[in-house]
Amino acid sequence: SSLYRIDSWGAPYFSVSAAGTMVVMPLGSDTKPGEEIDLLAVVKKVSKPKTKGGLGLQTPIILRFPEVLHDRLWRLQSSFNNAILSEGYDGCFRGVFPVKCNQDRPVVESIVEFGKPFNFGLEAGSKPELLLAMTTLCRGSAEALLVCNGYKDADYICLALLARRIGLNCVIILEQEAELDLVLSMSRKLGIEPVIGLRSKLSTKHGGHFGETSGDNGKFGLSCTEIMAIVNKLRRAGKLGCLQVLHFHMGSQIPSLPVLNDGVSEAAHIYCELALMGAAMKLLDIGGGLGIDYDGTRSSCSDMSVGYTIEEYALQVVQAVRNACDLKGVKHPTLCSESGRALISHHSVLVFDVLSCDSNKGTVTENGISLDIEGIPHDLKIVNTNLIRCARACDYKGAFECAEVLKHRCTELFKQGQLRLSQLATINETHKVMHAAMMKGKSSTHVGSMDWNPHNEGSDNTQTPNATYHINLSIFRSMPDTWAIGQVFPIVPIQRLDEEPKVRATLSDLTCDSDGKVSSFVGHEMKGKRLNHLKVHDLQAGKSYYMGMFLGGAYQEALGSLHNLFGSTCVVNVWKNGSVKHGFRVSRVNNGQSIGDVLKVMHYEPSEMINTLKLHLESSSHFDNGDGIDTTTIVIQKVIRSFSSPTYLSTYNHPPSK
Ligand code: PLP
Repeated sequence: SSLYRIDSWGAPYFSVSAAGTMVVMPLGSDTKPGEEIDLLAVVKKVSKPKTKGGLGLQTPIILRFPEVLHDRLWRLQSSFNNAILSEGYDGCFRGVFPVKCNQDRPVVESIVEFGKPFNFGLEAGSKPELLLAMTTLCRGSAEALLVCNGYKDADYICLALLARRIGLNCVIILEQEAELDLVLSMSRKLGIEPVIGLRSKLSTKHGGHFGETSGDNGKFGLSCTEIMAIVNKLRRAGKLGCLQVLHFHMGSQIPSLPVLNDGVSEAAHIYCELALMGAAMKLLDIGGGLGIDYDGTRSSCSDMSVGYTIEEYALQVVQAVRNACDLKGVKHPTLCSESGRALISHHSVLVFDVLSCDSNKGTVTENGISLDIEGIPHDLKIVNTNLIRCARACDYKGAFECAEVLKHRCTELFKQGQLRLSQLATINETHKVMHAAMMKGKSSTHVGSMDWNPHNEGSDNTQTPNATYHINLSIFRSMPDTWAIGQVFPIVPIQRLDEEPKVRATLSDLTCDSDGKVSSFVGHEMKGKRLNHLKVHDLQAGKSYYMGMFLGGAYQEALGSLHNLFGSTCVVNVWKNGSVKHGFRVSRVNNGQSIGDVLKVMHYEPSEMINTLKLHLESSSHFDNGDGIDTTTIVIQKVIRSFSSPTYLSTYNHPPSK
């Protein structure tokens, strides 16, 4: 587990069992021995056919652990409660969940249900998000906040005002000055008094990837000048009492406490100034940004980690706000945070299987390497002789240089029709083998002899991959941030963790896109640079090899796209089984998109497609070749079955190949 740094990024939710499998501790540090959930056992259970008591699902699968989500919610709330208590802060904490992080209904409903005792609310950034938040919060606490962010039109504002009318604690956060006119006119029209907040554009900026959101040139929020203009307009309209909230968002993954302190202090002073100008200020919404430790380094210097805990984050916020308010003699506000990433990243694990492996080392036949050099020009024959001489003398650098010349020249000859495909194949393999041998550095080998096998000998150069593992997954669907912004998620085999992994594999997905690969891995670095491969176990014929992508519960599902029409994966909820030790319960949340579903998204109608095929088959007798086979029925039945099947590869009858 130290190879993958599981104990660092995984604590207190993920660990490795004595049997070498990944386990989930659903209650975090409160999980008792025997309550751990074995991921491999869950995958085996849900992938068993229904007739044998399973759910008949195929990987890739998202496993959700609602108890982990509950624990995260509780940790956030109790961190603020404790900080408020210890600092003598005269206000309370009301968290909201930004639904954009994961709008999936079971996730949002769980948050509202779990958060009801401490009035946890929701944040929306668009009209559809507002509608789902409104309806879900009808079953939440009446005190829970419904924060409306994002750019707004009259319809959005109308919905937000109606949310107040139906008793929800809805706040309209102005992103732009022009939205105020709409809010005032709509509220007059509907006779509903709004609660207004301002999103401030802070000058504090953080240097991480997500820091672009903040700073003077940030995309969002109101400048000091615009805030002053809005205050004056509200005063003139006699509505300064409606202005009750100040909101800001410094960007996701705030790297360190000093940066957090800077931003919160700046915002707290703006809050105080608004209160001193006569606004009825009550709430300071600090946005999101509470980071998580993806790479297990717990360091603000890493682009994939942060240098603080949730508890330290909460304490820093409370202290910064209290200091500003005490200095200016303003009552401490209720604190609200919109943490998304920190709340839900841990509760989902994406499990996928490996379909096959390509060795990057070249194939060495039993007869060793024997170049078929018949018909190649004389000068290349000399290069070939040199290659063999170098290899025999264990000069692999020299042998590889010869192989480079051969490969380059022979490719040219092939293009001119002067070489056979079989010869080109041998030369390409030789090139791969010599590259692998050079990387290994040393070997006592005899090219051309029976016992030559550079793969088993010599010291290994651990900086280069020696295999490509083909994974049953679309990067663009299931971990889009790895492609879009270079995000690194912990990826770990969920079995055989008691065995030393000897293969250095790059991971290549199902899409026909060269970007469809994972090329940075947690725990795999050399001189501070991440390596492009992961240490994994060799594939065993007939046995599935499962891997998990962890900490991907935020943003990935919503951002995932239909590249190559690979659809959403199925989702299963997993709980510990009450008081039964070593047990778990599963329930299917959804099946993921079928082939028919993804075609419909692109406006193909399965029934029309079937009719088109039927007409085509019936329009000609030429499909009937008199062999008694009913082509129409076979085609139509196969197509109908395909519409309801998953978009990913079925490995039921095809265990991984080596
Ligand atoms: N609030 C706002 C306004 C945001 O833009 C975001 C994300 O970018 C969040 C909250 C959630 O941030 P995080 O996931 O870092 O907690």
